Amino acid sequence: MSQNERTFIAVKPDGVQRGLVPEILSRFWNKGYKLVAIKLTLANEDLLREHYADLTSKPFFPSLLSYMLSGPVLATVWEGKDVVKQGRALLGATNPLASAPGTIRGDFAVDMGRNIIHGSDSVESAEKEIGLWFKKEELVDYKPTLTSWI
Ligand code: ADP
Ligand code: MG
Repeated sequence: MSQNERTFIAVKPDGVQRGLVPEILSRFWNKGYKLVAIKLTLANEDLLREHYADLTSKPFFPSLLSYMLSGPVLATVWEGKDVVKQGRALLGATNPLASAPGTIRGDFAVDMGRNIIHGSDSVESAEKEIGLWFKKEELVDYKPTLTSWI
C-alpha cells in the first residue's frame, strides 16, 4: 500500500451503453482518487485473453469474451492511497446480487455476466492490466492542485 498506488478500472460495454460513466467516475473522484489515464476503446480478443488469462478455461469464458467485445469499454487508471483494495470495495462483489447497496455493482446491476465494471484485484494485476490497456505516454503525470485538502 502506498500513496502512489495505481489501479486499473474499466467501465464494461453495458456500463458505457447505460450512461453510467459519469456516475462511476464521480464515485472515484468523490472518494479522493486521482485520475491518471482515461480512454474509450474497443477491446480485441487477444487483449482480453491476456487480461482474463486466469479465466480462459472457465465455462463462461466465451460469453465473457462476447460481452466484453459488444461495445466500447472506458479504460481508466486511478491513483491514491490503497486504491486497489478501496477500488474493489467501491465496485462491490463480482455477483451483483451479493454486492451491498451503496457499491457500484450493488446499485446498478443484477447479473454476474453484466456487472458493468472491472477493477484490478491486486497491485500485481493492476501493473499487468495498466501495461496491457495503456501505453506509458498515456499515463498523465501531474500534481492535482485542488486535492491537497483530502
Ligand atoms: P471480478 O471482475 O470481480 O474480478 P472475476 O475476475 O472472477 O471477477 O471474473 C471476471 C469477470 O468474469 C466478472 O466480472 C464477470 O463479468 C465474469 N464472470 C465471473 N464469473 C462468472 C460466472 N460464473 N458467470 C458469468 N460470468 C462470470
Ligand atoms: Mg478479476
